[in-house]
Amino acid sequence: MYPNTDLFIDGAWGASQSGRTLAVLNPATGEEVGKVAHADTKDLDRALKAAQKGFQVWSKVPAFERYKIMRKAADYMRANADRIAQIMTIEQGKPVAESKMETLAAGDLIDWFAEEGRRTYGVTIPARVDGVQQLVFKEPVGPVAAFTPWNFPINQAVRKISCAVATGCSIILKGPEETPASCAELVKAFAEAGVPEGVVNLVYGVPSEVSEYLIPHPIIRKVTFTGSTAVGKLLAGLAGKHMKRITMELGGHAPAIVFDDADIDTAVKILAANKFRNAGQVCVAPTRFLIQEKVYDQFVEKFTNTTKAIKVGDGLDKGNTMGALAHARRVDAVEGFVNDAIDKGSKLQTGGKRIGNKGFFYEPTVLTDVPLEARIMNEEPFGPIAAMRPFATFDEVVSEANRLDYGLAAYAYTSSAKTAEALGAKIESGMVSINHHGIALPEVPFGGVKDSGMGSEGGYNALEAYLNFKFVTQASL
Ligand code: NAD
Repeated sequence: MYPNTDLFIDGAWGASQSGRTLAVLNPATGEEVGKVAHADTKDLDRALKAAQKGFQVWSKVPAFERYKIMRKAADYMRANADRIAQIMTIEQGKPVAESKMETLAAGDLIDWFAEEGRRTYGVTIPARVDGVQQLVFKEPVGPVAAFTPWNFPINQAVRKISCAVATGCSIILKGPEETPASCAELVKAFAEAGVPEGVVNLVYGVPSEVSEYLIPHPIIRKVTFTGSTAVGKLLAGLAGKHMKRITMELGGHAPAIVFDDADIDTAVKILAANKFRNAGQVCVAPTRFLIQEKVYDQFVEKFTNTTKAIKVGDGLDKGNTMGALAHARRVDAVEGFVNDAIDKGSKLQTGGKRIGNKGFFYEPTVLTDVPLEARIMNEEPFGPIAAMRPFATFDEVVSEANRLDYGLAAYAYTSSAKTAEALGAKIESGMVSINHHGIALPEVPFGGVKDSGMGSEGGYNALEAYLNFKFVTQASL
């Protein structure tokens, strides 16, 4: 039932010209389940030509027509959610319920951007001189090069495709080679909905080869990337050199702050669910657990018990609540973070080991009293590890929360309105969620500050990143 994945260029699915393919593995078994076509420069040239043609056609299609087509793509995702969820779990490892949620969420995102695309209103600016009209038009920026990762094969791609399509741009998406088939289903949704040839193109390949070819190319006018900060800086540098607009959604290292006065049971329940969702391979996952001294032992005990109750196994088995990590690299990386933290004096409360000798499983892990020198307190772990430390005062915890160059998401639990308000103001982060997990909805901004990126992938601001503002001033004769 797992399909091989072809390239989608100029409205047609097909192999790469060289016939190159790469194996796709099931992370629950480590075995090959299919193949993905690998593009070379000849395929990229075809995609560029198609995107140029697609842009010329699509940018002239009225926003209302674009909206109607997009709504059909959203319906495709909903109608096929069960089938797509199976595909995603086979290639990515997450529990099938999470895969289904991601697929349905894509429907919501497409709907929202479709609606907002109808509202890319211009403005009239009062002139200083009688008889002069000053108008601002919003125009699509042009063909977009997009790069998306394997942790949310649909969710990272749908925000980019939806913004491009809603604003009248065309797009070449380099999807995730490890998890290609569910991302291809998203592209199929747009194709079946009636998006003209060349508007949405999908390629896979060697990431650096594709980005180094597409980003400097004169046809491409915008670059958007989701992935690590290191790669994001590389691509942003290349885009800057060639004067391309960018949206960068990069790594995070979210502080999760729990004050003495918080509802501890609620904090444990929500933070544990979000720590171990997608086996922790989430850019906005809570990472540095900073717990106020009086409730530290109580929080650690309750969080550890909740962690021990997680059922790890093949995501296709509905009884499992955490699946395999997406690939072998992550298991090695997670093992490195845990060993380093223990070597530096952290206490292991639970987990800390690989599971079995088949697939890429790692135990959900809780480390406490983790010193600031441990790598996990400084680098994005991107895995199922919660690292905890006690704190004493508000100022101390804010300074720790802001210590790193990351600034994507932050979480806090407190029953004091005054503390909540002060946190909202003082935390250096693109998103701050207090007393609940309320981020990543289509209509709200989604993005980071500092090294976590540039621009938003949610809310109306996401669309503006795909639009040029053109000023036209006209004197009556
Ligand atoms: P990686 O840094 O090599 O790759 C991360 C992503 O960037 C992948 O999708 C990859 O295809 C892409 N990529 C890498 N080099 C590229 C290039 N030169 N041009 C274009 N795309 C390129 O490593 P990885 O092992 O896949 O992931 C490791 C780290 O990446 C994680 O620890 C995490 O910090 C980060 N990451 C973040 C997100 C996110 O949602 N922000 C998603 C996936 C990975």
